[in-house]
Amino acid sequence: MNKNIDDRQQAVRDEVKAFAEKEIYPISEQLDQMPEPRKFPVELYRKIGEAGFIGYAMPKELGGRGKSHLEYITLVEELCYHDAAVGLLCAVGELATHPIIHFGSEEQKKKYVPDCATGRRIPAFILTEPEAGSDAANQKTVAVENGDEDIVNGEKIFIMHGDVADMGVLFCKIEGKPKLSAMIIDNTNQPGWKARTLKNKMGMRAATTGGIHIENVKVPKENLLGDIGKGFRYAMTTLDSARIGVAAQGVGIAQRALDEAVAYSKKRVAFGAPIAKLQAIQWMIADMATRVAAARALTYKAAQMQDAGERFSLEAAMAKLYGSETANFCVDRCMQIHGGYGYIGEFSTVEKLYRDQRVLEIYEGTSEVQRLVIAGNIIGR
Ligand SMILES: Cc1cc2nc3c(=O)[nH]c(=O)nc-3n(C[C@H](O)[C@H](O)[C@H](O)COP(=O)(O)OP(=O)(O)OC[C@H]3O[C@@H](n4cnc5c(N)ncnc54)[C@H](O)[C@@H]3O)c2cc1C
Repeated sequence: MNKNIDDRQQAVRDEVKAFAEKEIYPISEQLDQMPEPRKFPVELYRKIGEAGFIGYAMPKELGGRGKSHLEYITLVEELCYHDAAVGLLCAVGELATHPIIHFGSEEQKKKYVPDCATGRRIPAFILTEPEAGSDAANQKTVAVENGDEDIVNGEKIFIMHGDVADMGVLFCKIEGKPKLSAMIIDNTNQPGWKARTLKNKMGMRAATTGGIHIENVKVPKENLLGDIGKGFRYAMTTLDSARIGVAAQGVGIAQRALDEAVAYSKKRVAFGAPIAKLQAIQWMIADMATRVAAARALTYKAAQMQDAGERFSLEAAMAKLYGSETANFCVDRCMQIHGGYGYIGEFSTVEKLYRDQRVLEIYEGTSEVQRLVIAGNIIGR
């Protein structure tokens, strides 16, 4: 089955495969099984950056590789096929840099994007709070204007790479202004920035997740991103784009589950024949293959619309919803086909796939939120 709708995609797959064989497979298990407290894989992140994967679709003049969104999405899909947590490392770098590229001033772009694109700096996308997840506008973090700087106080949770990020785009309210604003945090080394690594994360373990307590953190006024009061729009626009990336994560994981299931069903013998001969198994494989193809088509369509400069919120939400649920479906069926050898991680990669895929239906907008976005676009609000 040809996965590609574009000639350039095979070159992306080949490039990722070569990188995975050299840099990912030798350390994949070690990263996943690292005991607490987990350490962010700084060296691997730098290698991903140096390979140009974080800045794949970023402009060449800002240190990126200037590829299309379709190629970038293929890159994420393929990384996640080999190790979803490594695909996530790359996708988070892209997510966190996106608001600067699209809403930053020329000075901000030149100052920050090249270092983010090449992995020299680790940025975070800092939106979620303990009481502001799906209801992202309900922010309590507040910046108080104080001469030529803002003083920020608040609490952030579930921030990818937030435990180690040396910079980030922070969303908060500015005192006296009702709507969200966005600012670039350039210095996480000040005493009021208290970041910690969240413990016992189910999957995607190589890419760590942080909680951040913010106490009288100083942000120079020049670090305001775009216009005051437009932060919510910047965040939602960024998430529209990133959701296609989550869809691609789902497609990569689902394809891996399908391939593992096919290979295992051909070699596992029960009642005197390979289980692939059983119709019960064949139907599971047929359902998986059909869903993978449908999820991939939705994902590529959304990326192509983004490349064409069309509106793609609806298509991104559909792709994210279906891609993440497809990963869940396929990994579950893959585990069923593997029986006990799927459930116990010592015997196969299926147990890791199961843990890694689950968050896709939660982050960057839950499945319920995607359905709200889709219904809102179809029915109207
Ligand atoms: C591993 C991980 C990484 C993350 N990375 C980041 C990051 O880098 N940056 C960042 O800012 N955030 C990040 N998040 C946060 C993530 O986006 C939120 O967890 C997510 O948006 C859900 O918010 P919540 O956890 O507060 O759940 P809640 O919003 O409390 O939702 C709880 C349940 O209620 C449902 N629900 C809520 N509102 C509605 C509604 N109106 N209609 C129907 N159902 C509804 C939800 O779908 C969910 O099932 C991350 C989360 C995780 C787990």
